[in-house]
Parts: sequence; structure tokens; C-alpha cells
Amino acid sequence: MLIVQKYGGTSVADTDRIKKVARFAADTAKQGNKVVVVVSAMSGETDRLLKLGHVIASETKQSPDRELDALISTGETSTAALMALALQSIGQPAVSLTASQIRIVTDSCHQRAKMKYIETGRINSELNKGNIVIITGFQGVDEEGDLTTIGRGGSDTSAVAIAAALHADCCEIYSDVDGLYSADPNVCKNAVKIDSSSYEELLETAGAGAKVVHMHAVELAAKHDVPLQLKRSPSIEAGGSVRSGTKVTREEINMEQVLVSTVSHTSSEAKISVRDVPHKVGIVSRIFQPLAKANINVDMIVQNVASNLKSDVSFTIAKPDLKKAMQLSEIAAREIGAGKVEMAGDVSKISIVGIGMRSHAGVAAKMFETLAKEGIDIQMISTSEIKVSVVIDAKFMQKAVDALHHAFIS
Ligand code: ADP
Ligand code: ASP
Ligand code: MG
Repeated sequence: MLIVQKYGGTSVADTDRIKKVARFAADTAKQGNKVVVVVSAMSGETDRLLKLGHVIASETKQSPDRELDALISTGETSTAALMALALQSIGQPAVSLTASQIRIVTDSCHQRAKMKYIETGRINSELNKGNIVIITGFQGVDEEGDLTTIGRGGSDTSAVAIAAALHADCCEIYSDVDGLYSADPNVCKNAVKIDSSSYEELLETAGAGAKVVHMHAVELAAKHDVPLQLKRSPSIEAGGSVRSGTKVTREEINMEQVLVSTVSHTSSEAKISVRDVPHKVGIVSRIFQPLAKANINVDMIVQNVASNLKSDVSFTIAKPDLKKAMQLSEIAAREIGAGKVEMAGDVSKISIVGIGMRSHAGVAAKMFETLAKEGIDIQMISTSEIKVSVVIDAKFMQKAVDALHHAFIS
């Protein structure tokens, strides 16, 4: 089998953990498998580098993004080299490769580049020589040869993209939890492990903020039919072994149609409201176009008609984008003759996801009733076929997750 194993920051947090991962990857190779290991930066390293970069970049006028990519991509390069050394020191042939050595080609949108294609020639030739190939996650290179990064948490996506390009038999994502839980086990003490899930359910759950795997990684896995396994890292699991985790595949007819399988939350979202937007065809796009151009992802949008010819438009974005989004929204508001632009820095999105929702009515009503009983005010609502999300004041996040888990799961 050809197996891609991705190890996140906590799995490779220190040299001891890197050695444990190396031992496990070597054992996987000894069982007759070809093994590709995709690594993240050691835990905290990307944040550390970004902080250094921002201290200095605050003095410059031009966009710092190109150099920030050159800087933060070194986190993954270091881990990959350390992992190769750890494997070689236990007698396992191994080679580390960066995105530019392989040519993991992206566009030139620094800090949030999109992958275009991956050249597999070098990876395959190293595998055929009997090497374990260790690849830097998170990194890319643009057509000019400049280093790029694909957005925070992007190593999961790198791993799945590499697995798809190599037609790997599966992609194993190792983190500090032994699979997908019914809620973040670090927030909800009653959360239970889910043994198998579908791409669609996991995609909605990851999109709703469960960071056990990145949403774009699940999207790619579904597109290319890459079987995913979410597991706890052998460097964290007591005894260095690995438990079964969560298997993720295409939805099967006999899969249990659970009404609500996960309760998810986000904690780093912000809300912007543009007041008194004149009611004219095409006007709303003038608020969102500048945000899209600046590559700011808008999550939830609500438009309330406030009076006969005016409406309030509210939307949520990731907190790090708040400053830029406020500036752009204020400019847009002035141009279209809207009123004040207000922000709420601390909101949380709470979502319930389940395949069973497709065929059951009343799930949203029960969710709203549960939150009302806890005295939690709902600021925004959005739904999909298998998900209901609400935006609430972040201070109620824990209470909301616990109450909804109790109402729908256990
Ligand atoms: P890595 O650093 O390896 O990429 P992450 O920290 O990104 O790992 O993801 C693992 C974390 O995801 C866990 O520590 C857990 O707190 C969080 N998490 C959030 N929601 C869930 C969920 N539903 N199931 C499992 N883990 C979850
Ligand atoms: N090191 C990067 C980050 O911290 C990528 C990743 O870990 O997935 O965001
Ligand atoms: Mg992650």
C-alpha cells in the first residue's frame, strides 16, 4: 500500500515526539508499505515566527506577505529535516523534500495561496529507491519560484493533495485526539468518539469549526475519493501504538442516519454590521466585492430590512481579518450612502450537523428552544441540508455547546 501520514504540530512538538513518529513510520514501511510523511511546524513555531515577522513588518509600507511566507515556511522545513534525521538514525532510509524541491505549485496569493498542481516525479523516484519521503506541509511555490503558504492549518490540505496526486491508498491525519468526536473533547466533557463518518458530514463539521481536520482537506479528499483516517499520534498515545480512530469515506447506504452527530463551535469570529444600506439592486455586492478582492472569507450573512428603503447587512469573518474588513466596509458604506459600520469582536458560531436532518423536520426549532431555555440570544442563523448554525455572544459558547450536546446527543 501507499500510505500518506500527516503529523500536526503537537505530534512533532519536540525531538522526543519526532523520534516516536519516526519509529512508527519506519514500522509502517517495514510492513511492506510505501510511506510518505507530511509534517507541520513544531507546535507554536508558526505563531512564534509570525510574531517576529509582524514586529519588524509594522515599520514597512509594502505588503509583508511575500517575506512572511519565506519566514513561516521554515517551520515545516525544520521539522521535515529533523524527521529525516530521526529516520536515518534508526537505519531507515529517508529523505526530506520541500515544496519547491517537489514543485507543489500554487498561485502567488501569499499567506493564503491556492494549490494548482503537484509534480510527483521526484517523490515517486525517492519512494522507489526505498526511502520514506518526508514532505513539508503548508508550503507551496509559485510559478516564479517564490515560496508561498496555503493558510493556517493548511498541512492537512497538503497531505490530502499529495495523497490524491500519488493515488495513495489512504491518508492518515495524526493529531492529539483519537478521531472525530461529537463535540470538541477539550470543551465538552460528554463528547463521544465517532468511528466512521462521511466526507459530507465531516466537511460540514470541519467548516463549522471542528479543527481536528481542515475543511479544504476534506473537500479535496471527497473530490478525489481519498479515504481519510483521523487518529491520535503515536508520539502522544501511551505506549506509542495507535488506536483505530475515525474512518472517513463516501456516504454508504447502510451508514447510520444520525439526526445530529456533532456540535461544533468557533471561537475566533467577528461580526460586522453595516447599518441603513439603501435598498437597491446590486448594492450589497458593493460591500462584499472589496472583501473578496482582499481574499477575506465571509462566513455568515444576514440582511434585515430595517425600514421601507433601508436594510442592515451583518456578516461574520475570521477575527484576524477584522481590522482590514472594517476599513473596507467603511469605505464601501460611504460610497453607497449607507450608515454606520459597527463591529462585535467576540462572537461564536455554534453548529449542529447530522445526515439524518435531511429527512427530519423540527431540528432547528429544537435547537432554538434549547438555547432560549439557557437564556442565550441568537444573533444570526444559517442552515444547509445537514447543518444548522447560529451566531451568539462568545461568552455563552461553553454553555451552548453543553446544552445542545445534552439535548441532541447525550
Ligand atoms: P494539529 O495541530 O495536529 O493539526 P489541531 O489542534 O489542528 O491538530 O486539531 C486537533 C484538535 O481539534 C483537538 O485538540 C481538539 O481540541 C479539536 N477539535 C475540535 N472539535 C473536535 C471534534 N469534534 N473532534 C475532535 N477534535 C476536535
Ligand atoms: N504550521 C501551520 C500552522 O500552524 C500549518 C499547519 O500546522 O497545518 O498553521
Ligand atoms: Mg490542524
